[in-house]
Order: sequence, then C-alpha cells, then structure tokens
Amino acid sequence: MAFCSDLRLETGYVVIMVIILLEIEKVICDVRHMSSENIMCCCSEPSAENVRCQKCLQKGHWTYACTGKRKYVTKESRTKEMNKRLRLEEEKQRLQQM
Ligand SMILES: [Zn+2]
Repeated sequence: MAFCSDLRLETGYVVIMVIILLEIEKVICDVRHMSSENIMCCCSEPSAENVRCQKCLQKGHWTYACTGKRKYVTKESRTKEMNKRLRLEEEKQRLQQM
C-alpha cells in the first residue's frame, strides 16, 4: 500500500500549498489596504475596517451599516471662501511683480 500513502502525502502537500498561497494573498491585501484607503484589491470584498462611513464620518463601517447619527459638516461660507481665494490671487500677483 505504499502507492496509496504516497498519493495521500502528495494531496496533503497540495492542500498545505494552497493554504500558504491564500495566506500570502491575505497578507498582500492587508499591506495594500494599509498603504492607501479604499484601493481596488484582490479581495472580493473591501474590508469594512478601511472604509469611512458617509453618514457619521467614522471609519470602520459602511454607510448602510451605520448605527450612528448623521453629522453635519459645517463648511465655510461661500463669501469667506471667495475672500480667501481673492487673497490668494493677490498674493500670487504680488509675488509675480517682485
Ligand atoms: Zn456611520
């Protein structure tokens, strides 16, 4: 029965190889996730740890899975923004004249 046991051994090796390859792929995925947010990855599903909820702006869950309250982001008023832009333009012109 030497042949049988050899075959079983080989199948075992294949299984181990597949497990190792899957582990390597997982590690590569983790590294990619760490390097940048919401990157397209070989994972079929992007992990929720790396997404930002659009509702409560907290990291770690999807918007549809949100249990928090909606946060309203207070944006600078339009006039304030325009003044800032004008100041920047003035600054640029001054630098060009120098
Ligand atoms: Zn949320």
